[in-house]
Amino acid sequence: MSNVNRNPSARHKVVIVGAGFGGLSAARTLARSPVDTLIIDRNNYHTFHALLYQVAAAELEPEEISYPVRTILRGIPNASFLMGRVERIDLDAKTLHMASHAIQYDYLILAAGSTTRFFGVEGAAENVFELKTLDNAIALRNHILCCLEQAESEPDAEVRRRLLTFAIVGGGPTGVEFAGALAELMRGPIMKDYPALNPSDVRVVLLQAVDSVLPDLPSRLRNYALQRLRRMGIEVFLSAVATGVTSEGVHLKDGSFIPSRTVVWTAGVRGDSLAETSGLPVAGDGRVQVLPSLQVPGHPEVYAIGDFSHLEKDGHALPFTAPPAIQEGAAAALNIKRQLQNSDPLPFQYRDKGSLATIGRFAAVAYVGRREFRGFGAWVLWLGVHIFNLIGFRNRILVMVDWAWDFLLYERAVRLILPSESCQNVHRRTSGELEQTPEYSRSLH
Ligand SMILES: Cc1cc2nc3c(=O)[nH]c(=O)nc-3n(C[C@H](O)[C@H](O)[C@H](O)COP(=O)(O)OP(=O)(O)OC[C@H]3O[C@@H](n4cnc5c(N)ncnc54)[C@H](O)[C@@H]3O)c2cc1C
Repeated sequence: MSNVNRNPSARHKVVIVGAGFGGLSAARTLARSPVDTLIIDRNNYHTFHALLYQVAAAELEPEEISYPVRTILRGIPNASFLMGRVERIDLDAKTLHMASHAIQYDYLILAAGSTTRFFGVEGAAENVFELKTLDNAIALRNHILCCLEQAESEPDAEVRRRLLTFAIVGGGPTGVEFAGALAELMRGPIMKDYPALNPSDVRVVLLQAVDSVLPDLPSRLRNYALQRLRRMGIEVFLSAVATGVTSEGVHLKDGSFIPSRTVVWTAGVRGDSLAETSGLPVAGDGRVQVLPSLQVPGHPEVYAIGDFSHLEKDGHALPFTAPPAIQEGAAAALNIKRQLQNSDPLPFQYRDKGSLATIGRFAAVAYVGRREFRGFGAWVLWLGVHIFNLIGFRNRILVMVDWAWDFLLYERAVRLILPSESCQNVHRRTSGELEQTPEYSRSLH
């Protein structure tokens, strides 16, 4: 194991774990400070999660919603990048441990994001498709396309229906947006490409544990979203609590079973496990419990931000969304600057920028500054916000071209199964070669 020692210059070394919204915001804020910033990420790219579901629904290419970290850092002269996974943090020794490095720091900003929460539902971790990373989205897209390929030549009607039933667990923004995009994919381009399929065999099922979708929005917007989803042919089950998932479908608390080869889990989120493996103080949602200044208790040189940190405002934890991460990244960096000038860090003040969710083409809901918007106007707002927040001029242009293609011509730009071996599990399963083995379950991820 090599030891990456402190910079021999007198400049302080700030290490940021995670090149997501929070980590990049911190690095940008430190750009002109007399520090050396090192960003570490397990991926060499930044992901714009808000459009992951469009990659899974074959609407956008993966590279259109991601951007190389090194290219982003070109404009930040005091920042460098190291690709790798941080496995453990030794807070007392001020050292990060990676597979082949030990990195020392003077200040540390933890922005490692979040992971899926399964609430102990039996079989969920093994059998569902997640939608948290670019890898997840590509695996899901491949699987959906493989199911369609298989269904077209499947003689058994029951197996065919299972292949064509897509169950989404979780009626929050990601579940709602993915259900809408998937329904449009199925009713539009897919039916043109697979003329032998019977459209009535295709089901998009949205399972929501509570009694409304988008529960964080006002009731008028929730009701609008529900009606709109149902008008699109999506079967929305409210108060439908998943109790078990197998490779053949989802069991619900009321005893019913939804047969499906594709169960997508968008129901829960928790802080990244790095917090627990490093012995950091965590709240019930697996996030690091921080002081109002975003510092980790007992370690004034360590900050936790974004999805990785738990901070409450008015008795509620800040949401797992990009605005808190961006604002906290800037605030943590400013506090480090203050510490360098021997001033006390300031408490973080969150400014809520509102919520947005799209429900298929030309419809969305928005709650901004306590004002409610729905329908086409909200959708235009949604488009503008997402284009504005995408990193890279090229990505913005490509996404707008793909959207125009989709929204105006009712066509999807990409429907390639890559790599082609992705379909092997669907084929083997359907031909009865595989039973519900751990190997099969794992290979879905
Ligand atoms: C499908 C989906 C849709 C979403 N839609 C929206 C939306 O519409 N609007 C919105 O505001 N928010 C949305 N979010 C949430 C938003 O993306 C997150 O809240 C935001 O990304 C949090 O920023 P962050 O910097 O804390 O973490 P992230 O952006 O997740 O970045 C964390 C980074 O840390 C890296 N990392 C993690 N662990 C390690 C490790 N051990 N070693 C090295 N690197 C590590 C990861 O690779 C990642 O790059 C969505 C999230 C998902 C999954």
